[in-house]
Amino acid sequence: MPTVISIVIPIYNEQECITELWKRIYALNNLPTQYRYEYIFVDDGSTDNSLEMLKGLANTHTEIKIISFSRNFGHDIAVVAGCDYATGDVIVLMDGDLQDPPELIPEMLRLYEQGYDVVYAKRRSRQGESFFKIKGAQLFYWFINRISSIKIPENTSNFRLMSRKVLDEMNRLKEQDPNIRTMVTWIGFRQKALEFDRKPRFAGKTKYSPIKMLKLASDGIVSITNKPLHFSTLFGAIFLLISIVCIVSAFVLKTDNQIYAIVCGVLSAMFFIGAIHLFAIGIFAEYISRIHNNTRGRPRYIISEKINI
Ligand code: UDP
Ligand code: MG
Repeated sequence: MPTVISIVIPIYNEQECITELWKRIYALNNLPTQYRYEYIFVDDGSTDNSLEMLKGLANTHTEIKIISFSRNFGHDIAVVAGCDYATGDVIVLMDGDLQDPPELIPEMLRLYEQGYDVVYAKRRSRQGESFFKIKGAQLFYWFINRISSIKIPENTSNFRLMSRKVLDEMNRLKEQDPNIRTMVTWIGFRQKALEFDRKPRFAGKTKYSPIKMLKLASDGIVSITNKPLHFSTLFGAIFLLISIVCIVSAFVLKTDNQIYAIVCGVLSAMFFIGAIHLFAIGIFAEYISRIHNNTRGRPRYIISEKINI
């Protein structure tokens, strides 16, 4: 029996990429291997021609399976849906814009054969990405690795191979705001990095606005550690100390009567303390919104159509 590889690809308005993507992933069949491939495309509520193009391909290739969402649910949810329906012994997650080169998959499989349960692609370089994105990602990894007890590998995306063992564990994590890379790291087993140069998108535009990136970062942090919840206590203690020092010094140092300076000082102190309060409340809100999401018990996605499944 050949080993079945499920390739899971989320698609959101990628009509310019689909033909080239299919050409390059289908070319894997030309390599002399003992593998059989299954392709699971998750159409995350595309509003362009992506779904029709995928259906056209699925007509002639029954190994292409399509899950189509009722609306846009988000990148990681689309990956989760693909994983729910993957039947392979090995699962490969990759993006649909060819930033994740399919040609890396044989190398991932080679490492899998050596006994690794997760092979994650790690960007040696990243091209065609904005300054905000690159710096934002650096800051994210710096921060998360300072506060999390589990080390999250830097410069990774969802592009990775997982054994069936890891996938079965991942499918048990029923988070409403899933963050694939922190979840897979948390699961453990033998994990190995595989370096590659990340190219720009083949075509089209990024689907990640700065706001969506902040949500991704916040999902990553909140899903892996509770430490930010304690920040507010720490800040509270530090600011109590500062305010005591201020009061004491006001009595001890008898300064000239400079009303203007005092008003400014008081105002800035008020705003500063206010900001700290809002920041602390914000951290609580991040966790509480996820508790809220998880207690609602809603399904994570709604499928409008399944093809070849
Ligand atoms: N994607 C998705 N749903 C979304 C946003 C993105 O399914 O709401 C898909 C998108 O089509 C692509 C992958 O997720 O296949 C990664 O998105 P993108 O390339 O825009 O992210 P970036 O590489 O810019 O981080
Ligand atoms: Mg991309």
